[in-house]
Amino acid sequence: MDLKQFITVVPDYPRPGIQFKDITTLMDNGDAYRYATDQIVDYARERQIDLIVGPEARGFIIGCPVAYSLGIGFAPVRKEGKLPREVARVEYGLEYGKDVLTIHRDAIKPGQRVLITDDLLATGGTIEATIKLVEELGGVVAGIAFLIELSYLDGRNKLDKYDILTLMKF
Ligand code: IMP
Repeated sequence: MDLKQFITVVPDYPRPGIQFKDITTLMDNGDAYRYATDQIVDYARERQIDLIVGPEARGFIIGCPVAYSLGIGFAPVRKEGKLPREVARVEYGLEYGKDVLTIHRDAIKPGQRVLITDDLLATGGTIEATIKLVEELGGVVAGIAFLIELSYLDGRNKLDKYDILTLMKF
């Protein structure tokens, strides 16, 4: 299936010059959403993944159906102040300023093989921060899966130590 036909490219959103890749038109097509999920399920199965970890909010949309299909758990990575118990936290740089991501400290058992999921790889900053959290808790990042890779940005180079699956490149 050609998944690209289900992505809507929105010009000048959220700022002039940005060609925003809107994945909601893929998600609201049941066949396309299931097809994309199944590709990631196969990838996870080959890598004997124990747990899925995804950053809010679109990392949940990609990762949760994969976890359900494999019968394994999903651990959310959230912005500061959203998780109710003790967390590990990491600061990461944004284009302007910085942000913080957190994960519950007991979400990952040392040695667990983790698949990280998100909708889109741009500069790789979000996933780099997510990797730090997983590794701080003793998890092994055994794979990273995205729907979309913006290959004109250098995200993949930043993650060159890791095994990456992307279903579409723009
Ligand atoms: P990065 O940290 O620079 O790799 O940015 C990736 C994050 O920005 C992902 O979590 C995406 O949800 C979001 N993002 C950046 N550009 C787009 C886009 O064109 N469409 C949808 N999400 C985007």
